Amino acid sequence: MREGSLEAPTRHPIDWENPDYYDEAKLEAELTRVFDICHGCRRCFNLCDSFPILFDLIDESESGEIDGLDPKTDYRKVVDACTLCDMCFMTKCPYVPPHEWALDVPHLMLRARAVEHRKGETRFADTELAKTDRNGKLASFLSPLANWATDTGNGLTRTLMEKTIGVNREAWLPPFADTPLDRRGDLDRIDVDAAAPAAGRKVALYATCFSNWNMPGPGEAAVKVLKANGVDTRIVYPGCCGMPKLENGDLAAVAEQAHTVAAAFAPLIDDGFDVVAVTPSCALMLKFEWPLILPDDPLVKKLAEATFDITEYVVDIAKKEGLAPGMQPLGGDVAIHLPCHSRAQNMGQKGAEMLRLIPEAKVGVVERCSGHGGKWGIFRENFATALKVGKPAGRAMLKTNAAFMVSECPLAGPHLRQVMEREGGERIPEQVPHPIELLAKAYGL
Ligand code: SF4
Ligand code: SF4
Ligand code: SF4
Repeated sequence: MREGSLEAPTRHPIDWENPDYYDEAKLEAELTRVFDICHGCRRCFNLCDSFPILFDLIDESESGEIDGLDPKTDYRKVVDACTLCDMCFMTKCPYVPPHEWALDVPHLMLRARAVEHRKGETRFADTELAKTDRNGKLASFLSPLANWATDTGNGLTRTLMEKTIGVNREAWLPPFADTPLDRRGDLDRIDVDAAAPAAGRKVALYATCFSNWNMPGPGEAAVKVLKANGVDTRIVYPGCCGMPKLENGDLAAVAEQAHTVAAAFAPLIDDGFDVVAVTPSCALMLKFEWPLILPDDPLVKKLAEATFDITEYVVDIAKKEGLAPGMQPLGGDVAIHLPCHSRAQNMGQKGAEMLRLIPEAKVGVVERCSGHGGKWGIFRENFATALKVGKPAGRAMLKTNAAFMVSECPLAGPHLRQVMEREGGERIPEQVPHPIELLAKAYGL
């Protein structure tokens, strides 16, 4: 048997419609097989909290081997600490398919979550927070009230939230916009620069639930930059990609979202539109997770092939047609945090490449995990771990001493800001926006 593999990693479809997928004895056997291999390898000791928990449990057990663990209680601790960041699969593991051991730890953790979900063990708050569109619709009507209640400065409501739904009172929560991005007539009315080199391109900008309902900044900046570059840009939001439901192991609900969103984009793709997502987790869902959940769906496949991350798309324009002139130097260095779900798209450091297109830009890259993990990091029992995991990334950002700090992930940015605040120092940024917002700034948009 060869140690590791030189062949490109592949990923098997997720067998979620097969009753065996939910068979607890089979799941336990697979967890034992995989955890035993990890125990022998230990390469992933510093990626997240799941592996240290596993290795500590084994080391502190009587036998010092995998059989020293109680599968019913101990395995759950390892699974619960996983944020599904994909980094063990993407960056470390030599035993991923086509290696005969065929390890896919993130998708095995997902299967364990799916079994928990089917048994009705998903907690109430996880289920309700995953309804991003319902929450967004409600809160955008009442955004001043919702934002008052969720502000970390509001000790009364945040203490209440911690006691009732378990959301840590100190964890940053995204504010709600009063007008969703897909109803912003002002953005529709911005002219497309027909003289720009990329004129003729057409983009259906997938607003994503985050930019649509919560923080429109990255979507707004993307529309402005694309239109200034001659790209006929339309904001489209048929619904959330279902990532929070994936975190809950609710694969049927994710499949439903995939059907709805893929059907809405299909006629646009047929009409020559490229699909651009402004949030990396969503781009990852469209490009890679949905085709593994619905491998036989032609519309899902069509959408996956047409989808770009916004940073990848701007770099593509720069390489093929050249960017429109007009950017000015920012007047300071930039530090960019590349989140796990950008790295998992396997597209290279596109955010940094994009920022280097700004005249005189000096860009430092931080590739460590922010520790946030979607909604995982906001819960009472996880927030301290989320800060701990994010510490190396926060420290690395501070060390750059850059005037501008950005992250491609809209949740990782504010979380890293909280990490940096706790580290102290003079260079804590007011905000950690998306890099496309910096490009818009360089254009003066
Ligand atoms: S997917 Fe991420 S959080 Fe989960 S085990 Fe792998 S590295 Fe850890
Ligand atoms: S996931 Fe792979 S690389 Fe990581 S500890 Fe397990 S076997 Fe080793
Ligand atoms: S991954 Fe994107 S669309 Fe999905 S929940 Fe997160 S922000 Fe929303």
